[in-house]
Amino acid sequence: MKLLHSGKVRDIYLDDSRDPADLLLVASDRISVYDVVLPTPVPDKGAILTSLSLWWFDRLADLVPHHVVSATDVPAEFAGRAIRCRHLDMLPVECIARGYLTGLGLKEYQKQGTVSGVELPDGLVEGSKLPEPIFTPTTKAPVGEHDEFMTFDEVVAAVGADTATRLRELTLDVYRRGAETAAANGIIVADTKLEFGRDPGGEIVLADEVLTPDSSRFWPADQWEPGRPQFSFDKQFVRDWSATLDWDRTAPGPEVPDEIVAATRSRYVEVYEKITGSRWGS
Ligand code: ATP
Ligand code: MG
Repeated sequence: MKLLHSGKVRDIYLDDSRDPADLLLVASDRISVYDVVLPTPVPDKGAILTSLSLWWFDRLADLVPHHVVSATDVPAEFAGRAIRCRHLDMLPVECIARGYLTGLGLKEYQKQGTVSGVELPDGLVEGSKLPEPIFTPTTKAPVGEHDEFMTFDEVVAAVGADTATRLRELTLDVYRRGAETAAANGIIVADTKLEFGRDPGGEIVLADEVLTPDSSRFWPADQWEPGRPQFSFDKQFVRDWSATLDWDRTAPGPEVPDEIVAATRSRYVEVYEKITGSRWGS
């Protein structure tokens, strides 16, 4: 198998022993803060993210076809943290849905009152719930560059009007389903990023990972309070701990102490168990 790409967290292999060739998306236990991969892995993180994605793909299949071929037909060394998937022609748009205002969306709103060209009412603050979920696509920047917001017209220019409309509709459908499902279990999905590709027949297919703590902001609903940064379910412990260090946030990152690793792992397990309603490892 050929290693095509090694991201901060995942490694992508091409399996051209199959016809058509498949991709293997392999999630590692690596963790990054401020875009720097730390030298200490978080045990089970890759497997948790992989299981959660699979759980969602299954529950979204009536809304949108997905890229999963198999979660079990993978090399033994990757078992549990790899997904064999169809090799799609990816659409050059990061499809983001936001139900709450935070992160870069908040920055853009504070500057100009819009996000990706979508007008928002006055008076919103960090963590505010939006009147309705919005589609705030960005470019897929090459490594080392930053993703930029795209207006809907820019998406139309990139992929055509029909595809742009379909991407917006699918992204908001998936967000609404995800947010509703998670809300029933005490979790707010503040925002999420989806990626879509086309299969050889031209059909739009949901790809990459879906509704994981790496692609979404999950907040505990009982602690939500607009006007301040919210507690994040994934990296909060690592971020808080790293903020106490004399570290300039460039590589190499610091070794993470055992208790921070353990606390971080528990948050990943907790979010998995809350969303799916199953015990991790059962
Ligand atoms: P990082 O997440 O570290 O910022 P990244 O997004 O490039 O970087 P990964 O998320 O690890 O790294 O890589 C996944 C890559 O695989 C993305 O470029 C995504 O577009 C691509 N991809 C996901 N699913 C498919 C698919 N079914 N067919 C083709 N490409 C896919
Ligand atoms: Mg990615």
